[in-house]
Amino acid sequence: CGIVGYTGFQDAYDIVINGLRRLEYRGYDSAGIVLEDKNNNFEVKKTKGKVSDLVDISENLKGTSHIGMGHTRWATHGVPSDRNSHPHVSNDGKIALVHNGIIENYDTIKTMLIGKGFTFLSETDTEVLVNLIQYILDAQNVDFPQAVRYALNEVYGAYAITVMHQDYPGVLVVGRLGSPLAIGLGDKEYFIASDASPFVEFTKEAVYLEDGHMATISLEKGVDIRSIKENEKIEPAIQELKV
Ligand code: GLU
Repeated sequence: CGIVGYTGFQDAYDIVINGLRRLEYRGYDSAGIVLEDKNNNFEVKKTKGKVSDLVDISENLKGTSHIGMGHTRWATHGVPSDRNSHPHVSNDGKIALVHNGIIENYDTIKTMLIGKGFTFLSETDTEVLVNLIQYILDAQNVDFPQAVRYALNEVYGAYAITVMHQDYPGVLVVGRLGSPLAIGLGDKEYFIASDASPFVEFTKEAVYLEDGHMATISLEKGVDIRSIKENEKIEPAIQELKV
């Protein structure tokens, strides 16, 4: 399973799809992609099967966006199916999320959210997390990265996640506990991936996110790393990739 994300000036579709291909060795049963178009709307395509099956249904998105993310799924909660594939989108349509790992306490949170009127399209643990972020944003006076942080403090389990919000164009929020995630630092572009193989051809500078850390990545402000628990600012430890 794997995650690829991109924000910058290149074609996000090509980078995400080629990146997912590089991560195929990790094993998976489904694949998906979300891109943000010029009007900040999400285009989501996802399917059970191979990255090549995803390409068959998504090739029209080539050349349409400079920000997006992709996912290969190894199902843990819910059968491999188109609907259970990632990305998952929040009820209000504004937040998209990809996740590798397991949210152990998803059931309790799902029951709470259903009580608040949320509906679910999939059987995944992941869809609970994206709606929990929406719930926190709606209910509390916090910005998008803080809402992600609050939500991560409510979940148990293991995760690498990447999240996008329509009202925060050009921004990717990532977090990690137990599953790997690397950030590639380019010149006016940033890459996310489960390992460095999807972006090593574009940059040699990477930050390997540590367990319990999250990062807000934007073209304007760069990479802001925080501890998920305390919101403590962390200086990025930049590594030089060798080829
Ligand atoms: N637990 C999530 C699911 O079943 C993510 C699985 C994965 O790591 O790909 O959808």
